[in-house]
Amino acid sequence: MAEEFFPHTSFRPGQREVLKRIREELTSTRILILRAPTGFGKTAVGIATGMMKPPAIHSVRTRNEITPVLRDLKKLSKRVRGVRYSFIHSAHAMCPLLSDKRIDPEDFWLNCQILRETGLCSYYAKSLSIAEEDIEDILATSENHVECVKRISRELGACPFFSLAKLARSSDYVVATYPYVFSRDLFSTIYPDEDPSEFSAIIDEAHMIIDPSSIFSSEISVVKIRSSINEVREYLGGDPFTEDLMERIAKLVEERARDEKLRRIDRASMGIDSDSIEHLIDVALEVKKRAIDRILTRGSISDAASKRISMVKVALSLALLEDSRFEAFTCKDGQSAWLKISAVDHSVVSEALQAYRSTLLMSGTPPSKEYIERILGLGGVSYIDAMEAGAWSPYSNMAVILTSQLTSRYIERGDAMYQLYSEYIEALDSIVKGVKLIVYPSYNFMRNVVERLSWRGYVEDRGSTIDDLEEGMRANGLIHVVAGGKLSEGIELVENGRSLIKSVFIAGVPYPQRDDYVEELLKNMRRKVPDREAWDYIYNMTSSIRAMQAIGRSVRSEGDRALIILGDRRFMAQDMRRYIGIRIGRIARNIVEFKSLVKLVAENFL
Ligand code: SF4
Repeated sequence: MAEEFFPHTSFRPGQREVLKRIREELTSTRILILRAPTGFGKTAVGIATGMMKPPAIHSVRTRNEITPVLRDLKKLSKRVRGVRYSFIHSAHAMCPLLSDKRIDPEDFWLNCQILRETGLCSYYAKSLSIAEEDIEDILATSENHVECVKRISRELGACPFFSLAKLARSSDYVVATYPYVFSRDLFSTIYPDEDPSEFSAIIDEAHMIIDPSSIFSSEISVVKIRSSINEVREYLGGDPFTEDLMERIAKLVEERARDEKLRRIDRASMGIDSDSIEHLIDVALEVKKRAIDRILTRGSISDAASKRISMVKVALSLALLEDSRFEAFTCKDGQSAWLKISAVDHSVVSEALQAYRSTLLMSGTPPSKEYIERILGLGGVSYIDAMEAGAWSPYSNMAVILTSQLTSRYIERGDAMYQLYSEYIEALDSIVKGVKLIVYPSYNFMRNVVERLSWRGYVEDRGSTIDDLEEGMRANGLIHVVAGGKLSEGIELVENGRSLIKSVFIAGVPYPQRDDYVEELLKNMRRKVPDREAWDYIYNMTSSIRAMQAIGRSVRSEGDRALIILGDRRFMAQDMRRYIGIRIGRIARNIVEFKSLVKLVAENFL
C-alpha cells in the first residue's frame, strides 16, 4: 500500500488518487511522468512512490531543495518504524577541512582521495568506524541538512560525506543532488557495490531533462586554461606537448568567442583525441600529486584539502570529448572567453534514466509523453496529471493579460521595441503593489530594456544566487531575471505563508537562443523525428516550460493571486497555446488598454 508510506496523516486533493494511479501503472511501466502543480505536495507523493519499491534515490536540483524532502522523511520515519534515510550532495561542500569552497568539485575530489589514501584525513578514518545509528540520530535531530553536516564533523569527528554515504547504503530512501543520480561515476561514490537497476529513481524538477547540457556539461575559462600552463611549468618544470596544446585551445577559444552565443569548435582543430586526453589526465594527476606533496611537507592538511589546480578541471572537462555525444563550444561573458563542453544528444539522459528499476519524473511542467518516447527513446511511459486527478490548480488564481503590441522577435528588436517594453513594465510597476517578476529571453534583451527604466529594482547577472536576491529583496519592486535560469525557476518569496510575487511579466517568448549548441541538438533530434517536430520541441516546448516555470513562482498556495502578463503576441499562436496551458483572459492592444486592464485586475482580483 502506497498510503502506508505517505509521510502525512492526511492527503491534499488529488494525492491519494495519484498514488493509486502510480501503484497501478508501476506494475507495467518503468517510466512515470507526474505533472504536479505548486501546492500539490509532490515530495510526499515521490517518497510514497519510492517506498513502494525501496531502495529509492530522490534527485533534487540544488542543495537547498534537500531539506524539504528530509522534513517529509522525518515525518515518515516517525509514522513508520524502521524507515531509514540519508542525503548526499557534493563532498567539497561538506568537507570540514576545506577553507576555500571555491575549489572545483573534480579538483577537490583528488585532494580528498590523496588525503584518504595517505591516511592523513582523521575525519575519514572516523567515518569508517562510527555506527550508522549515531549518524541517524544526528540526522533525525537536526533542523536542516546544513546543521546535520556541521554536527557530524563537530560531534562525531567524522567526514559528513562518507558518513552520510555509509548511512545511505543501508537506507530505504536517499535524497541526492542531480549529479549523483545522473552520473554513474558519482553514483558509485555512494554505492560502490550496487547497480542503479536495484533502485527506484524519483527525479524532481524533471523538466530539466529536455536540455542535456543542464545536466551534462562543464565550463572552463581561458584564464583557467592559461593558469594550467603555469602549473605545468611550476610543478613539472614544463611539458611542451601540454603547454602547446593548452595555448592552442586558449587561442582558439579567444578567437571564436564573440558573445553569449555558443559557437562550436571541433575536436581536430583543438588537437583533441584519445591520446592527447590520456596525456592531459596523466599530467594533471602528476601536477596535483606534486602540489599536494609540496604542501604536506609543510604539514597543513587543511591547505592540502583546499589546494586548487586548474589543470585537473581542464583535463577532466576535455576528457568529456572522448564521448562522441559531447561537443566543444565557446562563448563570451563580459570580457572573459569560455570553453564549454556539453552533451548534444539526449541519449545521455535516457541512458541514465534507463539504468534505474523505475523512474518517476515529477515537475509542474514536465515534457510530454511523446517527447520522452520519441526523443529520449524510452518505452513503457505513463503520464499522470495531478490536476486531472483532483489537485488544486494554481492557474485558477491567476489573471492573464496578453499584450499584442509587444514581441521579442529578432526582426522587430530595436530601440523602439525595448522602449515599449520598458513603458509597459513601468506601467505595471506603478499600478500593482508587491513584487513584480520580469522574465526576459536573454541577458542582452534584459539589459536593453532595463537601461530604459527609471527605477530598475533587482537585476540578475550570471553570478546571482537565490540567497543574494532574497537578502536584497524588498516587499515591493521589480526583479529582472532571465528565463530558464536559477532565479526564474528557483525563487521563492513567501512571507507569512503568502507569496510576495504579485505579478509575472514574460517579456518576450523565451526561446532558446539560436546558436551552434541548439543546431547540434536539432541535428541529433532530426535523426529521431521530422524536422518540424524537432523544431517544435526545441523552441515551442522549451520556451513554454521556461515561461510556465517563471509563472509558477507567483501562486504558491491557495490564498495567493497573481497577474500574469504574456508580453509577446506570439503567445497567441496555436503551437504556443498548446504547451502554455493557461487561459488568456484579456488582450491589451496598446498601453492605454494595458493600463486600464491592469488597474481592473489590481482593484478587483489581486
Ligand atoms: S573530511 Fe576528509 S574524506 Fe571527508 S571530504 Fe574532507 S578530505 Fe575528504
